[in-house]
Amino acid sequence: MPRWPLALVTGASSGIGRAIAVQLAADGSDLIVVARRRDRLEALAEELRAAHGVTVDVVVADVTDPGQLAALEERLRTGSPSVDLLVNNAGAGGQGAFAELPLDRQEAQIRLNVVAPVRLTHAALQPMLARGRGGVLNVSSIAGLQPMPRVANYAATKAYLSSFSHAVHEEVRHQGVTVTNLLPGFTRTEFHEAADINRSVVPGLAWMKADTVARKGLRAVARGRAQCVPGLGYRVLTGISAHTPWSVSRRVLAAVLTP
Ligand code: NDP
Repeated sequence: MPRWPLALVTGASSGIGRAIAVQLAADGSDLIVVARRRDRLEALAEELRAAHGVTVDVVVADVTDPGQLAALEERLRTGSPSVDLLVNNAGAGGQGAFAELPLDRQEAQIRLNVVAPVRLTHAALQPMLARGRGGVLNVSSIAGLQPMPRVANYAATKAYLSSFSHAVHEEVRHQGVTVTNLLPGFTRTEFHEAADINRSVVPGLAWMKADTVARKGLRAVARGRAQCVPGLGYRVLTGISAHTPWSVSRRVLAAVLTP
């Protein structure tokens, strides 16, 4: 019997979400995979059905669209069989001076990185709490640990998600349900290209593989942990961030991130 008989993964068409879906299928989990790119999802579903004999439902959805998000919420709230593990992974970044960036894109980022995971978590928790079991894995970021000039909105969305995950974990953990906050550092995916971030300015040693981040995250949620920071270097950084006042970190990061 797999740890999670049925899992729903958002953003499964690439990067960390895809790696999570692959590892869950290898463990025997049936899957509902969600993203906007149908071709990617169909190819993944074919691959996983053939390799592991699992059931994979493809749901093509833009989770920033309220109607499409509502359909997913309905699946989580009332669908049968119930989802045992929800992975809120879909997310996107971007950089630039806040006042100069298009406001609509900033708002869409809030819908993608905050509103979607909050609404999906709420929908998933109803049946999970009724059954007394289930897990939620929220893919946040170390970017949410401090204010980040030129990445202001993205960092703030991840700060929200981290705070939210910890608080809800504490509310539900005595009822058989856990919420795990995953904080990846720089991970080789399509994220940076999509966000127009130049990867070459980040030293090679800082990069993690999506497979590694996925494995650590899945292990943490299987153990019911509140938080997971993959990589020793990033765990040290997390400790430093926790003890650094924002008045200091915002200045240091402005110096690093301003071209
Ligand atoms: P990718 O760009 O490789 O993957 C992002 C995924 O999100 C894709 O599957 C994409 O699918 C999906 N997605 C984006 N927008 C939407 C949307 N509107 N509706 C539905 N799905 C959407 O990046 P990563 O794998 O790196 O990102 C995964 C998570 O990890 C994100 O939350 C990111 O913030 C976080 N993270 C990443 C880090 C990194 O260095 N890579 C570091 C820290 C955190 P599609 O385009 O097909 O819709």
